[in-house]
Amino acid sequence: MASGSYRNGGPKPTSKLDHLPPSTAYSTPKPSAKPRLSAAPVPRRGGSVAPAAASAGKAGGDAGVPGRVRVAVRLRPRNAEETIADADFADCVELQPELKRLKLRKNNWESETYEFDEVLTEFASQKRVYEVVAKPVVESALEGYNGTVMAYGQTGTGKTYTLGRLGEEDTAARGIMVRAMEDILADTSPEIDSVSVSYLQLYMESIQDLLVPANDNIAIVEDPKTGDVSLPGATSVEIRDQKSFMELLRLGEAHRFAANTKLNTESSRSHAILIVHVKRSLKGRHDADDGFPSENGTSSTLIKSFRPPIVRKSKLVVVDLAGSERIDKSGSEGHTLEEAKSINLSLSALGKCINALAENSPHVPVRDSKLTRLLRDSFGGSARTSLVVTIGPSPRHRGETASTIMFGQRAMKVENMVKLKEEFDYKSLCRRLDIELDKLLAENERQRKDFEDEIERIRTEADSRVAEVEKGYSNTLENAKLKYQQDNMDSIKKLEEKWMANVNRARVEHQSACLEKACNNKAPTRSSSADIVEVRQLLQNEKLLRQSTEEVVMNLKCEISRWKRLEAAGNSEIVKFRKMLDSETNQKYKLEEEIAILRSQLLQLSFQAEETSRSLDRGESGKALTGLDSLVPQARHPQLRDSANGPKASIAKLFEQVGLQKILSLLESEDHDVRVHAVKVVANLAAEEANQDKIVEAGGLTSLLMLLRNSEDETIRRVAAGAIANLAMNETNQELIMAQGGIVLLSMTAADAEDPQTLRMVAGAIANLCGNDKLQMKLSVEGGIKALLGMVRCGHPDVLAQVARGIANFAKCESRASTQGNKVGVSLLIEDGALPWIVKNANHDASPIRRHIELALCHLAQHEVNAKEMISEGALWELVRISRDCSREDIRLLAHRTLISSPTLQTELRRLHIEF
Ligand code: ADP
Ligand code: MG
Repeated sequence: MASGSYRNGGPKPTSKLDHLPPSTAYSTPKPSAKPRLSAAPVPRRGGSVAPAAASAGKAGGDAGVPGRVRVAVRLRPRNAEETIADADFADCVELQPELKRLKLRKNNWESETYEFDEVLTEFASQKRVYEVVAKPVVESALEGYNGTVMAYGQTGTGKTYTLGRLGEEDTAARGIMVRAMEDILADTSPEIDSVSVSYLQLYMESIQDLLVPANDNIAIVEDPKTGDVSLPGATSVEIRDQKSFMELLRLGEAHRFAANTKLNTESSRSHAILIVHVKRSLKGRHDADDGFPSENGTSSTLIKSFRPPIVRKSKLVVVDLAGSERIDKSGSEGHTLEEAKSINLSLSALGKCINALAENSPHVPVRDSKLTRLLRDSFGGSARTSLVVTIGPSPRHRGETASTIMFGQRAMKVENMVKLKEEFDYKSLCRRLDIELDKLLAENERQRKDFEDEIERIRTEADSRVAEVEKGYSNTLENAKLKYQQDNMDSIKKLEEKWMANVNRARVEHQSACLEKACNNKAPTRSSSADIVEVRQLLQNEKLLRQSTEEVVMNLKCEISRWKRLEAAGNSEIVKFRKMLDSETNQKYKLEEEIAILRSQLLQLSFQAEETSRSLDRGESGKALTGLDSLVPQARHPQLRDSANGPKASIAKLFEQVGLQKILSLLESEDHDVRVHAVKVVANLAAEEANQDKIVEAGGLTSLLMLLRNSEDETIRRVAAGAIANLAMNETNQELIMAQGGIVLLSMTAADAEDPQTLRMVAGAIANLCGNDKLQMKLSVEGGIKALLGMVRCGHPDVLAQVARGIANFAKCESRASTQGNKVGVSLLIEDGALPWIVKNANHDASPIRRHIELALCHLAQHEVNAKEMISEGALWELVRISRDCSREDIRLLAHRTLISSPTLQTELRRLHIEF
């Protein structure tokens, strides 16, 4: 390969230096004491989160910083054979490490000088080589940037020595792979970060897994949007310590040896590729405004506390390339010619790509080989790349050495755009929220149980106290009654006795007095007055007794009223307890309500997470999370469904726990944030066909229509319209929407809305209604067609596509009705003035719009009553064009048939002398 054939490699030494890009001037000493390849400026942690990217679910992703591919050259010391065989010859190269130059001798008089980012002599230690070549790449991989370290050179010049030595017997001999992993493990923590490794071999355009050799012919998968390359079929092993990594490397090496023996080749013919995936979480950034999406810019405290953690994902690729010497095309080493071609295909494709990139050629043949597809990020991509080219000293291999040097020189001209890979870790947020929710539920359960126990205890205590008081009271009452009765009986008895005694005495005295009177018939004696005194005395006693009895009764009454007061006090105590019980129950209901709100917000978050991760999987960004996107039947993306199974299960669980009725009731919540969350949840539920009937049954459709009628907030109206559009996919719902005045509400929303996404939702809903045969007349009378046509003012292609779909649906139904004899007269579309717009956009650039309109035109033209209007509006020309140029055969034929079968159109075609 003549050096003169490269623009860069002119024969004069000075010209090479002149052609280096400006960023390769390394004369200024760097502040760092460590020797290393000069690195392009890299944005530091936390400094580059772009809000626009953040709102799309990606936490960050700067536009990238230019970073040239760094190239070091390493010279292997003479080996034993060379020491003898080349004893009389000088080395073919001379190094000037302090000037970072290398001189390649042409002959005894002439040499060419080349400048590299670093020149490593035969005495350079493995440690220094690591620090100069790989350490900056490893460090930036730890900060979230992809990185590549690669060795290129002739077989036997030390590529594997530089990259792959394990250094088991002598740690100073450890190569780049081992040292890189040591640094990575030292800087990561197994609790929050993850490091995993794949180890592969690329031989004859087939990728083999060196960790599980049965894994053969692994496919390369490229994300069409981001261009990210991955190998889903490759084994990936999580690394927690250096020991397991060393075992893995040993295992890989053993498998590589076995595989190469089987394939009858040498390891120098295959490329070995080590891929290290580093995923790190960023802690302590949640308090700052990290751009996490929030409703109308005001995050609720709840959402703030549930911000998803940010993760940085990077990939470090270490490539030990196949030997760069050419293989004999005749098929030496027992290879056929085909094999010989294929063996070097990847390496020569790499050379071509680097040439193209170095020369800024518009086409870089990345797709020509597996190696270049795998390394598309490493050259001209977003990774930080460091290349070490290895050479030997022997003058016998001067040609190969020169070509290695030229490869390195060209690689130095390749510019990459180094980019930070940072994103939100929604999955871990979901897990955290699940745990948080479980804790809340358990805590609530425990509080409720404690509370119920407490109530039970108070009630029992109150009951026993009341019973005690009642018992004491009735005992005392009984005793007092008995005592009073006893006293009464006693005094009555005494009185009776006294009375009896008195009666007896009086009788005896009366008899003796009579006797005395009879004897001496004299005046009354002193004894009768004494009797009177005595009776008086008795009466007096009687009176006193009665008074004392009355006092006892009085006392007893007092006692009774005291007990009554006590009883009343007991009752008021019970009333107090009841009140406490009521207020605690209220408190419990409130708590339950809060939990329901929390759950619904969590449900909403989970939906957002699921949508975002879906759109991330699809590589989309910046799209609305809800709405018509869900009109695309999800069954078309089974792989997406599967990948989202985790969050889905927890959504289903939450949905069950919260209950549809509760979610619908939140649509009328006082709190605006809650209303927004609730309508998003309903919209997401409505996107699943399985939920639609349940939503309509539970009155969800009516509530959504109410939101269109009453809500001032455009987000709510947009999301509600999206939900209605999804519900309007089913015929019964279409009729219900019309019956509830939905078309008027949708038309009002269309008239007021500015946001194209809102218009897209409304147009999508009306377009669905247009597909119902029974609603044609009503749709037209209530202004549905006019509303559709009004929305074209916004000009957004997504809105136009929905309008066109609606018109095509309508035209198709009308055409069906006319054929069945259910419709006579000119099309309602034509009556509502849709034809000029249809004709104007029939050849629209966007194919979805064009297809719908083309179909609509064919349907309209199938009925003779429309023909005159169509001719006068210029639709005939469009039909002729469709019948000739439309790329869809079915539409082309339909147009053709339509033109042939319409007498009016035929007459006009003949009049215009158009052959048909
Ligand atoms: P390659 O992978 O490029 O084919 P190797 O790494 O297998 O080359 O090296 C070939 C031989 O040279 C090995 O025996 C290796 O130990 C030895 N070697 C390579 N580079 C050095 C070096 N810098 N110092 C000492 N020995 C080296
Ligand atoms: Mg090797």
